[in-house]
Amino acid sequence: MENNLILAELKDIAAYPYAHLQNWKIKTGGKILGYFCINTPEEIIQGAGFLPVRLLASPERISLASKHLQSYSCSLVQSCLESALRGELDFLDGTIFPHTCDSIQRLSDIWAENLRFPFHWDLVLPVKLHTESARFYLIQELHRLRLGLQEFIGRTITDDDLRSSIALANANRSLLREIYQRKTSHAGLFSAAEFSAIVKTATFLPKEDHNHKLNKLLSRAEEVISRAKGGIRLFLIGSVCDQPQVFDLLDNCRASIVGDDLCTGWRYFSEDVSVEGDPIEALADRFIRRVPCPCKFNPGIDRAGELLKRIEGSQAQGVVFILLKFCDPHAFDYPYLKGKLEEHKIQSLLLEIEPGGLPIGAMETRLRAFVETLES
Ligand code: SF4
Ligand code: SF4
Repeated sequence: MENNLILAELKDIAAYPYAHLQNWKIKTGGKILGYFCINTPEEIIQGAGFLPVRLLASPERISLASKHLQSYSCSLVQSCLESALRGELDFLDGTIFPHTCDSIQRLSDIWAENLRFPFHWDLVLPVKLHTESARFYLIQELHRLRLGLQEFIGRTITDDDLRSSIALANANRSLLREIYQRKTSHAGLFSAAEFSAIVKTATFLPKEDHNHKLNKLLSRAEEVISRAKGGIRLFLIGSVCDQPQVFDLLDNCRASIVGDDLCTGWRYFSEDVSVEGDPIEALADRFIRRVPCPCKFNPGIDRAGELLKRIEGSQAQGVVFILLKFCDPHAFDYPYLKGKLEEHKIQSLLLEIEPGGLPIGAMETRLRAFVETLES
């Protein structure tokens, strides 16, 4: 019973993150830095004393942002700018923009020009990750962020601040991995909507609070395991998806999500940062070691091969690509990955999503047909 209450609370917080953050700020007086994309090292933000908050799509319709962005900008970028222009992000003390795709880079310029948050930072990450010079450059760039934050808060961010922050983030990732593993071995243990809320809230709740909730969830394993159910085992691939309607749809179509490769899922918590040695170098090394997303280039890591191993390990019966509309990096990646899946006789379905304009009926028809094909 207690697990149901925790899961309901997390789903509620995940559905209204901005309202929750506004209240948090009023209650605690804490400072909040927003960031885009899991390539931003939230450990440095947290080590500087801020609450790191990952900015994700809101379901609002776009009106103000369309005056600044081309209509073919990705819907995450459009909806975050819309929220900021409407004043829904006024609780932010600043924002960090990592150089990843074109959409995020251009959003940074528009944001700086039209909004007045006290702190604004471009984190110019390398694109190719496999050379010594890229590692050297990345370390300098992370140092530059540390110095920029130090200047903003007026105090030194010590190595110990960073190590404590890394340890706290590692503890959170470790708990998320434990929940993920249990979900894979007991299909249906957490519904797709519940797991999405668990991961989404990890990206904006204080890590201590979130760890406490996850420890409670895991400590009542038997209660949780009794909820496991069958259904077709599906694996999700894509960039950013945090929309409850999409996960409710998956839950309603006799599907159990047994694994994923989403930036709002596995990729957020898959790799820890070493607590040994220099913390900035450790952060750089985690970034380089990670299986790259389509915005980065590392020929030393076989992205498709790693993905296939994880799909096969999860015993998924099919794959659903969740593509955010106008997300070019993932759109370019899709034919390549689909081809690799076909070589391994793994069936897949593509669902394109867009905040505020989800064609739920059409998506449901296609998803049900896909599940029926896999069942037969
Ligand atoms: S696909 Fe890459 S750049 Fe885009 S949100 Fe995910 S990690 Fe960031
Ligand atoms: S990687 Fe895709 S979803 Fe992420 S900001 Fe870029 S275009 Fe948008």
